[in-house]
Amino acid sequence: EDDSSQPAEVPKDKLLNGLLASGFDERSCLSRYQSVLYGKSLAHKPSSYLISRLRSYEDLHKRCGPFTESYNKTVEQLKSGQQTDPTDCNYLVWISFSGLGNRILTLASAFLYALLTNRVLLVDRGVDIADLFCEPFPEVSWLLPTDFPITAQFSSFNQKSDLSYGNMLKKNPTQTDVLPFLYLHLVHDYDDQDKLFFCDQEQDFIKKVPWLIMKTDNYFIPSLFLIPSFEQELRNLFPEKATVFHFLGRYLFHPTNQVWGLVARYYRAYLSKADEKIGIQIRVFDTGVGPFQHVLDQIIACTLKENLLPGINPEEHIISPPGKQNTKAVLMTSLNSGYFEKVRDMYWEHPTVTGEFIGVYQPSHEGYQQTEKQMHNVKAWAEMYLLSLTDKLVTSSWSTFGYVAQGLGGLKPWILYKPENQTAPNPPCRRAMSMEPCFHAPPFYDCKKKIGVDTGALVPHVRHCEDMSWGLKLV
Ligand code: GDP
Repeated sequence: EDDSSQPAEVPKDKLLNGLLASGFDERSCLSRYQSVLYGKSLAHKPSSYLISRLRSYEDLHKRCGPFTESYNKTVEQLKSGQQTDPTDCNYLVWISFSGLGNRILTLASAFLYALLTNRVLLVDRGVDIADLFCEPFPEVSWLLPTDFPITAQFSSFNQKSDLSYGNMLKKNPTQTDVLPFLYLHLVHDYDDQDKLFFCDQEQDFIKKVPWLIMKTDNYFIPSLFLIPSFEQELRNLFPEKATVFHFLGRYLFHPTNQVWGLVARYYRAYLSKADEKIGIQIRVFDTGVGPFQHVLDQIIACTLKENLLPGINPEEHIISPPGKQNTKAVLMTSLNSGYFEKVRDMYWEHPTVTGEFIGVYQPSHEGYQQTEKQMHNVKAWAEMYLLSLTDKLVTSSWSTFGYVAQGLGGLKPWILYKPENQTAPNPPCRRAMSMEPCFHAPPFYDCKKKIGVDTGALVPHVRHCEDMSWGLKLV
């Protein structure tokens, strides 16, 4: 038997405190049960209620998922476009849209919404979903079958679509007919009508529609916490509110064996032997090609000021204080290799003031975002995962790539403030309040009073983000 891919140790808690279901074929997805071998068990204990709801979701998925009797029946109804009887299975279709970090966050958001509304989540496979993620639910696939009747329309769905919920409300605000499907446009360009999705009254209507098709590029979970009818259930699922993405992410997103190979090889070659692992995720949204001096200055200022990395001594050639000298492995990720080269050279050319040894590594430098290339997103996913395996993490403002890493890793990162006018901000970074991602385009509306409201000031656990003043995050 070829066991070369199996580490010798037996995972202690490979089911992550019951978060994961047992009974999967382990070889077809090694990451599912091996993630604990890489030093990362869960940062918190999942509630027994969350665990029981996940198991009952899995039963629902098995009963209603692709090619089951119920699925076939409701697809027929969708094709015929007829007004329909209530069905025993209702669905939420997630459209693959935007960068990989965004997609991971929106899939988690869609799954939680499906869980709260007893819908079955089906995933548009886009060009690469099946290459990136293992099946998260036992026995029945989460992938939308390729012959689903309206897949060809997904790419044309947008803010202007007649079929969108927002536009339907504009035309016919008292709509009461049950439609075969509804398009939910929750992309950052959505308007006030689309945002009524986050109101209880509208949820009452949406409830009756058997097929929901959702397109979004936002982590909208913070606003679900502001919908009164979901409040109690969310409290039961997540007694510790700032753990939502951590648990859902570790439950849903298991790298395929191709991605896991990249993670495992890199980790063992460059990271596992260090006394401490520091992740630095650099995402520059400025136009123009980097590297930029002000970004490099900011990285060094932050890691030094926050005691994440030691300073160098440019006067001495050798510093060796008594005792064992620690090694730190710095994992940098960026589309550009310039920052990594400068930091690596700095720690090679000079000794550190503490005598520590600093190794600096960057897996890839892809140059620019190439969403359609197979290996590109395989590497992006491997790098997010590798960052999640570090002990301390520095991330860039506004980047969903960093949010995924911090959430999976259970890490409260140091966030580099967004540079303005090509200068390094002072202070360069701050510690995040929680490991949760930020919802970049939240609604600011009081559904009851029908007026604008600061949704970041309503409850203590939904606040404005550190890196985006109008965003919302769970703390
Ligand atoms: P965001 O734009 O930072 O919020 O993150 P997304 O993941 O949604 O989109 C950025 C895309 O650019 C990623 O999916 C990758 O394809 C690519 N990308 C950005 N930064 C990196 C990086 O450090 N490494 C790799 N491999 N790809 C990156």
